[in-house]
Amino acid sequence: MDRKEIFVIQGNQYKEMAMQVLEAARVAEDIGDRCRCVGLKPNLVVARDASGGATTHPELVDGALTYLKNHGFNHLVVLEGSWVGDRTSEAVIASGIDAVCKKHGVPFADTQKDRFRECDGAGMKLKVCEKALAVDYLINIPVLKGHCQTIITCALKNSKGLIPDSEKRRFHTMGLHKPIAHLNTIIHQDFVLVDNICGDLDFEEGGNPVVMNRVLGFKDPVLCDSYAAESMGYRPEDIDYIRFAAELGVGSMDTASAKVIPLNAGSDGQMDKKPIKPVKNTRRVARLAEYASPKDACSACYGSLIYALDRLGEAGLLNPKKKGTLAIGQGYRGRSGDIGIGQCTSCFKKSLGGCPPKAVDIAEFLKENW
Ligand code: SF4
Repeated sequence: MDRKEIFVIQGNQYKEMAMQVLEAARVAEDIGDRCRCVGLKPNLVVARDASGGATTHPELVDGALTYLKNHGFNHLVVLEGSWVGDRTSEAVIASGIDAVCKKHGVPFADTQKDRFRECDGAGMKLKVCEKALAVDYLINIPVLKGHCQTIITCALKNSKGLIPDSEKRRFHTMGLHKPIAHLNTIIHQDFVLVDNICGDLDFEEGGNPVVMNRVLGFKDPVLCDSYAAESMGYRPEDIDYIRFAAELGVGSMDTASAKVIPLNAGSDGQMDKKPIKPVKNTRRVARLAEYASPKDACSACYGSLIYALDRLGEAGLLNPKKKGTLAIGQGYRGRSGDIGIGQCTSCFKKSLGGCPPKAVDIAEFLKENW
């Protein structure tokens, strides 16, 4: 797989979607020797079910382990440490990942209980758990979501689960951004399988999930987080830790040169999938959703619009008189109207293309045209 490639798949069969991304990216070929130790790093920041928007869906870990076992890899470990204040031992059970590990006979390593070593991360001394350093090939499985301090979190910040609790506390005193970037010069992410199913609007611990129903695949964690930033309506350069990691040579922020490979796009380039059933939004997400008029909208399109509306709300640009005016969804194909989001509304007077468009582009479009 090329470091510029981005695999995208939509739907609600999460285990199968994870397997399809790994297959398309030829991860088994990339790992090579069947004797190598492959580590899977989910996000178990808190002891909550994945539907809350904070933690990795167990189906993705199940899909990854099934894929690896089918390809003859048996030296596997799932490893993670929750944030300070929660116990990993409780989080792994609450998430359902404990049951997945038992089903596959794969050990789970709680890094809160692990020993650590001090390493040099491009001039910054950092303590890293020994189990993480012992892995030959790391598959990171972060949740794409908001974060109250770093604005977004995805691949790069998920490495923080592989350091001891004392070091997590120290990271906060250092402002998070710089140590996260330096940590990623020590912990090499070989593949990133992103849980973009229902990450939180703006909090690491969940509570306001935004349904996107996507799984993404990247070789480059900096490209991953740059794409994640745009998916939430930000420019990658606005997120300090992404910029710092790029400056340290961890990867590239150049999403414009990336090659996006949709794994379930139809021949017309539009997503080949059924629209989602309406989900019960939390009050905050529901307030943003009042501005949309969806008809058979795909989750990723609708979720992108929610993130874009949140950016407009932050900028004080949401006018309650415009509630219900934004058309979005497959039900608008071939129909006319005033303003619409996504390729399906291409016959509208004002329409933003893309299938689905990114939140950053929707926010810009709405600032100029709505
Ligand atoms: S434009 Fe949006 S609603 Fe239409 S098919 Fe694409 S993702 Fe789905």
